[in-house]
Amino acid sequence: MFCRNCGKELKGTPEICIGCGAKPLAGNSFCQECGAPTTAMAEVCVKCGVRLAKAEEKDISPKSRLVATLLCFFVGGLGVHRFYIGHIGPGIGILILSILGWGTVWIYGIGSIFLIAVWIWVLIDFILIIAGSMKDKEGKVITNWQA
Ligand SMILES: [Zn+2]
Ligand SMILES: [Zn+2]
Repeated sequence: MFCRNCGKELKGTPEICIGCGAKPLAGNSFCQECGAPTTAMAEVCVKCGVRLAKAEEKDISPKSRLVATLLCFFVGGLGVHRFYIGHIGPGIGILILSILGWGTVWIYGIGSIFLIAVWIWVLIDFILIIAGSMKDKEGKVITNWQA
């Protein structure tokens, strides 16, 4: 095969190209079968006719976007959606802000500052999840609506 990133010929199907260090199938500049140059949008190699390999699926999270959306909407104030996608730190952050907020909101409304912070944080998370831009703890983007 050939590296789709740099066009170097490779033995077998290595995970990492010895020529450029990228994942051989992650590029879009060369055909993986014959090494001919390809355009970024090409689906099929114009020289040998093979279907060009795409590696993007590898970077998609196994977590469900639907579950993350629902958790964020209904229990986002407790950080549950962050726990679900493996972001324990931010999840605990949201939870602590919520507890601080509800625990102090009766003292001249001090807690409302924390609650507004939680609200903004969760709203941003919600937009990121809906837009398919949220990443799990491995940095894989959560775009699948089904788990
Ligand atoms: Zn390469
Ligand atoms: Zn080709």
